Amino acid sequence: MLNNKIKTQASCADDYDSESISVESARQKILGKISPISTTETRTLHQSLNRVLAQDIVSNINVPGHTNSAMDGYALSGDELPDAIPCQYEVIGTAFAGKPFKEPCNAGQCVRIMTGAAMPAGSDTVVMQEHSEKISDTKIRLAAGHRKGQNVRQAGEDIAAGSIVLKKGHYVQAADLGVIASIGIAEISVFQQPRIAFFSTGDELRSIGETLDIGDIYDSNRYSLHGMLSQLNVEIIDLGVVRDKQKDLREAFETASSKADLVITTGGVSVGEADFVKGIVEEMGKIHIWKIAMKPGRPVTFGELDEAVFFGLPGNPVSVMTTFHQFVLPAIQQLSGQGARAALTFEVFSDSELRKRPGRFECQRGILSRNETGQLTVCATGKQGSGILTSMSLANCFILLDENCNGIGVGDLVTVQPFDTYL
Ligand code: AMP
Ligand code: MG
Repeated sequence: MLNNKIKTQASCADDYDSESISVESARQKILGKISPISTTETRTLHQSLNRVLAQDIVSNINVPGHTNSAMDGYALSGDELPDAIPCQYEVIGTAFAGKPFKEPCNAGQCVRIMTGAAMPAGSDTVVMQEHSEKISDTKIRLAAGHRKGQNVRQAGEDIAAGSIVLKKGHYVQAADLGVIASIGIAEISVFQQPRIAFFSTGDELRSIGETLDIGDIYDSNRYSLHGMLSQLNVEIIDLGVVRDKQKDLREAFETASSKADLVITTGGVSVGEADFVKGIVEEMGKIHIWKIAMKPGRPVTFGELDEAVFFGLPGNPVSVMTTFHQFVLPAIQQLSGQGARAALTFEVFSDSELRKRPGRFECQRGILSRNETGQLTVCATGKQGSGILTSMSLANCFILLDENCNGIGVGDLVTVQPFDTYL
C-alpha cells in the first residue's frame, strides 16, 4: 500500500505547534530582556503628562497650609457649642479665603467664615450657614446637635510637609499634575520618552494615492501602529514601506536601530519565500522568540538589534494590533520606566457562540455592552480572520480564550480585556 503521508511543519492554520511558546512565557521572556531607559530630562508640569517620574516628589509644605473651613458658615470654639437649648453668639468679623480674620475668637463669639478661609485663633469648629439663624448683623443663634471639629480641614491633611507625594517610576496623569502644582513645584525630572521606529515590509504594499495593480493593497499597518503609539507618550519614527529585498531591509534595520530604542516591523516573519526579516535580524542581532502559541499572530518575532529591542509582527492587520496589545505595549511600559502593567481583564457572560479549537491562546474581537437588565455581556464582532481589520473597528475589547478552551456556548463566562473605557 502507498503511504499517503508527507512530512509537514506546523502552519499558521494549525493549533498545536511544538516550536511555539505560551503567551505568558513569551511575555515574561520579553520583559526579562528589556531594561528601562535611564536618561532623564527636566520638564515643566504642562509638558509632563503621560511621562514617568525619574525622582520621588517630596513636599516642602503642608497642603492645606493652614487649618481652614470646609463650608460657608460661622467659626467658633467647639467647647462653646450649645448643649441642649439654642444659644446666641456675637459675630465679631468675617474671614475670607485669602483674607484671614486676625483677631481671636473668645467665649460667646463667632466669626463669619467662607470656604477655604483660615480658621481664626480660638476657633476649631464651623457651623454651616444653613444651620444658623441670623438675628442681626452682629448676632446669630445656633441650635444643639453640632460636633466639635466639624466642617474643618486640618493643615497637612492632604499632604504633610516632608512626605513623599509620588514615587520615582510613577506614570504622571492629570491628577498628579494637580498634586505637584499644589505643592508649588513647577518642573520635574522625568525619563526620556522611548523612541519607537517602525516600517512595513511587502512588495504588495502601496501608499495611499498610488493606484493598485492586481494583488496590491494599501499599507494599513503603519496607520494602526501610528494610532496605537500616539496614545502612548513615545517618540514615533515612521520609516515607511520597505520592499521584500534583503539589501533594502538590511539598510532599513540599520537606520531604525541607530535612531530608536525599539523597532517594530510588520510582515515578512513567516515561512514564505519573501519572508526575510527573521534571517536578517539573526545576522545583525539576536532572536529570542519567533513563535507564540496565539491566534491571531503566531509568527511574532522578538529579539534585539545593537542597542534596540526588536518586534517583528506578522503582516496581517488584526495580528499586528493584537500582538501589539499583548506584547509590545507591556514592553514599551517596561522601557519607559513605569514597569509593565497588567491590562484590565474581567469575566462576563458571552452572548455569542465562539468557535475555538484547543492548542492556542486566542484574542477574538468582542463588543462589550449592557443588556436590558443592566448586566455587562460580550458578543463577537463576526468574522474573526486575521485579515478582517473591520473587526477591530467594531470591537471595544478582546475576548481572551485560553489554550485549552474548546469553544464557548451562549451564556458561558468568558474573560474580556477592554481597549476602550467607554461602552
Ligand atoms: P506576511 O506576514 O508578510 O506574509 O503578510 C501576511 C498578510 O498580511 C499578507 O496578506 C499581506 O499582504 C498582509 N500585509 C502585510 N503587510 C501589510 C500592511 N502593511 N498593511 C496591510 N496588510 C499587510
Ligand atoms: Mg510579506
